[in-house]
Amino acid sequence: MLLSKPSEYLYEMLASNYSKARKMWKKNIKEAWKYKCAYCGERADTIDHIHPQAHGGQSDLTNMICCCEDCNKNKGHESVEIWYFQQEFFQQERWEAIELWKAELAPAQRKRYIRGRGGIPTKCIVL
Ligand SMILES: [Zn+2]
Repeated sequence: MLLSKPSEYLYEMLASNYSKARKMWKKNIKEAWKYKCAYCGERADTIDHIHPQAHGGQSDLTNMICCCEDCNKNKGHESVEIWYFQQEFFQQERWEAIELWKAELAPAQRKRYIRGRGGIPTKCIVL
């Protein structure tokens, strides 16, 4: 289950401490991208802030993406728009996938209400 913040894994009691919750959150982001770099498409095992933290980028799901080590290092604090469009491996489809993810279509942003007995929503979860 892909949740928007590590703390949500704690609230949902899926993790017993913050460090485990954070690991789980990162793993789920990578799985959502099938361990492929969102930028170059190579196998990836790191998480990148699309909008760099140095420029005020938040650590929430819509700003976190699966990224290979090379792209992560290479991109550094550069603005993603400028950096990515200059790369030889730039691909419009991948850029659109990133835009979609950023546009809060990240799976965890989709909330669903769980209905209890009698059809009354008892809980709101994200898928
Ligand atoms: Zn890459």
